[in-house]
Order: sequence, then C-alpha cells, then structure tokens
Amino acid sequence: MNEIYDVNEQGMFIECGTGAIYKHIEWIANERGYGTMHYPSSLTCSTVGGFLAHRGIGVVSTKYGKIDDMALQMEVVLPNGDIIETSPAPKHAAGPDLNQIFIGSEGTLGVITKAQMRIYDLPEERRFRGFLFKDMSSAFSASRELLQKFKPSVMRLYDPAETASLIKKIVGVEKPGAFMNIAYEGCKEMVEVEEKILLDTFKKYGAEDLGSEYGEKWWKEYGEEAMQILATLKVADGYVSSSDAIKIARDKLQMDYDEVNTSYNAAEGIWTVTLTKASGDDREIMKVTVDIYGNILDMVTVD
Ligand SMILES: Cc1cc2nc3c(=O)[nH]c(=O)nc-3n(C[C@H](O)[C@H](O)[C@H](O)COP(=O)(O)OP(=O)(O)OC[C@H]3O[C@@H](n4cnc5c(N)ncnc54)[C@H](O)[C@@H]3O)c2cc1C
Repeated sequence: MNEIYDVNEQGMFIECGTGAIYKHIEWIANERGYGTMHYPSSLTCSTVGGFLAHRGIGVVSTKYGKIDDMALQMEVVLPNGDIIETSPAPKHAAGPDLNQIFIGSEGTLGVITKAQMRIYDLPEERRFRGFLFKDMSSAFSASRELLQKFKPSVMRLYDPAETASLIKKIVGVEKPGAFMNIAYEGCKEMVEVEEKILLDTFKKYGAEDLGSEYGEKWWKEYGEEAMQILATLKVADGYVSSSDAIKIARDKLQMDYDEVNTSYNAAEGIWTVTLTKASGDDREIMKVTVDIYGNILDMVTVD
C-alpha cells in the first residue's frame, strides 16, 4: 500500500498508496522541483493514511493549509467491503464533500487505501523574519491585521516565558518579550511586496525587528526536530513492557544504533525508538530506522 501510482505535473498531485511515509512523497516531489508543503514533526515516521485519518497539520500550514486542504481524491474501503472513490473534482457544488467525512475519522468509517495529494512549486524564495513584541496582546493584534493582508507560510508566537527559555536556548534571543517568527515565500516579486507589508504592519504595533537570523535558525532547528524518527512496534502479546528514547549525534549514529539493538533484544511489548540527528543526510537516519524495524521484526514472531 505504499506504491506511487502517479506524479501528475499537470494536475499538481501525487497519487499513492496510503501506506507511503509522507517524507517519501516529499522526496519524490522534491526531485521534480515540487514540495508537498506538509511539514509536521512526524513527517518521517507517519504515513499518508495516518495524516489523513488524524487530520494532520504541518509547520507551513498558514499559507498552504492542513492535510484536509491537500487531499484531492481518495479511495476508501468501507466496513461492508465496498470500495468507493471520492469525487474526481476537488471542489464541487454537488452534495457533501466525502473527503472531509473520512479525513479525521481515525479509521472508524473506512480504510483509506489510495490518495491524490497536492504538490506545489518549490518557492523561488523563502524568507524569515523574527520579531519581539512587548506582550502577547500586541502580537495578536499585529498578526490579526497581517493575516487580512497576506498569508505568511509560518507564523509562530512564543509567550515571554517561552521566549526566555526555549527561544533563548534554541535560537539565542536574549531580550525579554514575546518572540514571533514569520516566513513568507513564493516568487521573488511577491516576497518583496509581502516583506514591506509585514514590516509596515508590525511597526504599528511596536514590534522590534530582529532581522532574518533568528528566524532562519528557528527553521533549521525545527527541521532538525522534524528529523525525529519514531519507530513503534507492537508484538504478539501486546503489552507495554519497554519504551525508550535516545538522542544521538550523527557521528554516534552507528554506535548508539548498536546499543539500541542490544537493549531491545531483551525487551518485549511495544518498542519505541526515537532518533534525533544533529546534522547530515536525513536519508541516512531513515535507513537506520528501517534497519531497526527489520531487526525488531527478526526478533519477534507475530502469530
Ligand atoms: C514525535 C511526533 C511528532 C508529531 N508531530 C505531529 C505534527 O507536527 N503534526 C501532526 O499533525 N501530527 C503530528 N504527530 C501525530 C502523528 O503524525 C499522527 O498520530 C499520525 O496519525 C500517525 O500516523 P501513522 O501512520 O503512524 O498512523 P497510526 O498511528 O498507525 O494511525 C493513526 C490513526 O489513523 C488511522 N489510520 C492510519 N492509516 C489509516 C488509513 N489508511 N485509513 C484509515 N485510517 C487510518 C488509525 O486507525 C489510527 O486511528 C506527531 C507524532 C509524533 C509521535
């Protein structure tokens, strides 16, 4: 169920089996100059079906929307065994939108077996800008006004307490206040216009412009976080007796991977392995995860 059936550059979608890991369809899109624009933290470990079934959301959703905005058509197996296809017209005026009935239903109304997911041109330019607001209420007012003017791809606000802890630690903002990161992207001319609107709007609300440095760092750190791999396997007896998480740097990958293998040889129940890479090629860590799955499967017998 993880087949790629079609990369349709005319209709701007990828049609795939819903067992495909979302990161795989992102790679396929990227190879052709497109992106799925669905970038949740669980990108590398959740399936297309998992995201549809739980109505997932990613980090650039302010501009591109949630998974429910990205699904064009689906094939679903109903509880009585019937197989249906939702309308081939993504927007229509003929009755309920069946996609939206199955999206978010957590598998209770049917099994989604195939889906057409939107792809987008990779943006010619993606810019970041960090701001500090003196309080949350001025940040809310500024963002409300900005959203009436254009849709940034990222709009993330941290309250003063989180700015003083998380944001200070991760992106290095030392000053007090509420940190907001804005990203705006698309063709260069539009990005220029959006930047001017952004700066003019936020100035009215007394926001301190921190430039692009902190926002870019935030994106990089977010990307790293998004490389978390979660591998979970439930074995025959089905009770939890071990759950573990490790953090590793890339150069320690092999060593820690070996340690994971050793410790998990003795375990039973549900295994959870979380790997966070510090830098490097995300395909490498994906490969390690697939190996871990393979090794765990070798260790257990599921009746
Ligand atoms: C570390 C971490 C970070 C996360 N970050 C985000 C995030 O940023 N944004 C976000 O939106 N979510 C996030 N999640 C949640 C995660 O993406 C969802 O729980 C997702 O549903 C998991 O997908 P899965 O493929 O593992 O599905 P499962 O966990 O196997 O299934 C999830 C649910 O979907 C149903 N389901 C799965 N496949 C199908 C199908 N083909 N047809 C019908 N029903 C189906 C299952 O019955 C179940 O109810 C995160 C999770 C983790 C662990």
